[in-house]
Amino acid sequence: MIVVNEYAGRKTAVLGLGRSGISAAMALRAGGADVLCWDDNSAAQDTARDQGFAIVDLTREGAFEGVACLIVSPGIPHLYPAPHRAIVRAWAARVPVDNDIGLFFRALATPEWDNFEITPKVIAVTGSNGKSTTATLIHHVLAEAGKSVQLAGNIGRGVLDIDPPGDGGIVVLELSSYQTELARAMTPDIAIFTNLSADHLARHGGLGGYFAAKRRLFAEGGPERAIVGVDENEGRFLAGQLSEGAADDRVIRISVGEKLTGAGWAVFARKGFLSEYRKGRQVGSIDLRKVAALPGAHNHQNACAAYATCRTLGLAPRVVEDGFHSFAGLAHRSQIIAQHQGVTYVNDSKATNVDSAAKALGAFKNIRWICGGLEKEGGLEALVTASGSVTKAYVIGREAAGFAMRLSGVDAEVCTTMARAVAAAMGDVQDGDVVLLAPAAASFDQYDNFEKRGDDFTDLVRAAIETAD
Ligand code: ADP
Repeated sequence: MIVVNEYAGRKTAVLGLGRSGISAAMALRAGGADVLCWDDNSAAQDTARDQGFAIVDLTREGAFEGVACLIVSPGIPHLYPAPHRAIVRAWAARVPVDNDIGLFFRALATPEWDNFEITPKVIAVTGSNGKSTTATLIHHVLAEAGKSVQLAGNIGRGVLDIDPPGDGGIVVLELSSYQTELARAMTPDIAIFTNLSADHLARHGGLGGYFAAKRRLFAEGGPERAIVGVDENEGRFLAGQLSEGAADDRVIRISVGEKLTGAGWAVFARKGFLSEYRKGRQVGSIDLRKVAALPGAHNHQNACAAYATCRTLGLAPRVVEDGFHSFAGLAHRSQIIAQHQGVTYVNDSKATNVDSAAKALGAFKNIRWICGGLEKEGGLEALVTASGSVTKAYVIGREAAGFAMRLSGVDAEVCTTMARAVAAAMGDVQDGDVVLLAPAAASFDQYDNFEKRGDDFTDLVRAAIETAD
């Protein structure tokens, strides 16, 4: 645990008692703070009570008297579409509102570091898609190279749950826009921006607010090195803002669309080949077509970001390449779950928005596509454009009929349930087909989360294969 000492002997409040809320409460208590906890959900209250925390209704008048800070969990709206009532109370009482990420960055460095030979480093990954894959890949490559490295944030453990890094230790954080928007301190050594596409717009008051939330990771802390995906205008803008000129290699630009061979430092992937250029010369390359766990241009973008990070830390290209080859991939993201009679089955349940699903569609050929669910803002047009390799769509979700209708030009069958979609797709398959779950929608109309949806797909496919054998 990272102990938070800055509030020793003072009253603090924690709103939202999920994983990160409880770990923030523990870190504050370990540092000698008096912690008041609140969650609107009574089961979450019980969990905190079981851990010995006082439950205090923070939405009540006077709840913030004498409180030094309010720590808010990422799931709780802090501004849009409307702030939680406890946050409004905190504002009125002039109490600073922060989150576990802010606590973490202020608490991380300790006097013990003075004796270290190599100062611990923090790598923070943000962006609309690819955060988990990139963060996990970086963690894997560094661990394989023998570094002492921990993964935390939106994935794995809560940031305050990690062990204090030792001499030369590295912490890889995956940070969502909810986290970067609210944190009152962020000082990563290396910060990564993968890409930007419309998502979570209601929580950020639109695309500009969403981008501004991610941009804070770079603007607040001034990382030594910024690794920026420049395939969208937002990335180009950010890279331009952070660099002094073309040759400034504090910014490493990454792309899967453009050859970046000019001055400065860049990593790009084209037609499955990753290239690293520095000062106009190629200094490294990897054939990504042979890396099984990273299929498609979207994963090549993640590979570029991970490669750039590891190079910044001094790893040789060959070592990074070895790490890529031993990477197992992540569940529910372009995950090959079965291969049977010439047909490949891929679980990309994490494709909860149109952009990530479009990327998955671009990564395969002869696709029998299971899609649908709770639709997000922005419409489905990008999917229609990306559906060139789709033989047929099998649409799930409570609003399956409407979803299917909007996939104009795509042969789409309304299946509603996953069981029917899997049965229909498996009934139609031919040698060389890919049955791909890439819903382009949230799962909450039929499942608790995207993991359950992906597990359902996987179980159904495996059971059907077993019956067929
Ligand atoms: P995040 O943590 O940002 O949600 P993940 O690595 O979990 O990202 O991937 C989320 C979804 O986006 C998956 O469907 C995955 O296949 C897809 N994806 C992964 N990397 C990218 C990328 N660089 N660009 C677009 N989509 C991606």
